Parts: sequence; C-alpha cells; structure tokens
Amino acid sequence: MVLYCDNCFEPFEGERCPHCGRKKAREARADDLCFLTEQNIIWGGMLAGALEENGIYYVAQNVLGAGLAFKTGLLSERVRYYVFFERLQDARDIVTQICPSPDGGNEDGFEEDAFEYEDSFEDEGDGTEGGAEE
Ligand SMILES: [Zn+2]
Repeated sequence: MVLYCDNCFEPFEGERCPHCGRKKAREARADDLCFLTEQNIIWGGMLAGALEENGIYYVAQNVLGAGLAFKTGLLSERVRYYVFFERLQDARDIVTQICPSPDGGNEDGFEEDAFEYEDSFEDEGDGTEGGAEE
C-alpha cells in the first residue's frame, strides 16, 4: 500500500515518511498532488509542454519569489512541479526522458530500479554464420 504525506507531497511505502519522518500518513489517493521534480525554467518549460501533451495535469510552483529571481537572474529560478498521484509514474517517465539528469545531489534517495539485464542470450552457433565466399 502506498501512503501519502501531505506535509511533503510525497507518496511513500513503509511506516513513516522518509522525508519528514511523519507517521500520520494516509493512503495515497489518485487525486493527491505529488511532488514531481524541481527544474530551472528552461527544462521546466519543456517538461510542462510535455506534460500538457500527455494530458497530465500539473501544478508549478516557483521556488524563489519573482523579486528574488529578478535579482539573481532568470536561470537561477527554480520551479517545482506537482502532479496527481495517478499520473505520477507517467510524469516521472517524462522527466527522465526530457530532463538530462537531476542536477544537484539527489538526496531524496529515490529508489531506482536497478537495470539488471541478464545477458543469458547464448549464441549456440547453429550454422548461421555462413561466409559468403565466391
Ligand atoms: Zn513527509
């Protein structure tokens, strides 16, 4: 069962929220808003476009206030994206496709499925290597 921490906007599995340690979590619902990713406005803009294309509703939240972004430069402005739990996995797939890599240390400890390709394809030469000689 996936639980949802409405403090961190994070779905999680286990007894308590891995981010804030909160135990009072309820079961995640399809319409729970979940934190997706934080991007600068360039990647964020591309991501937003892709989400729209895929019909994924999202909420964008500027991390810095508009005034601060103005001072520090537009590129330093970061935007956080939230999507509904029911589309979270789809949205994450899009993030991996679009955004090169999560910049900055990812301390959230997202579980990553290890890609273990069992290379058990054995080539038992069945004579397909016919050399075309003249
Ligand atoms: Zn939490």
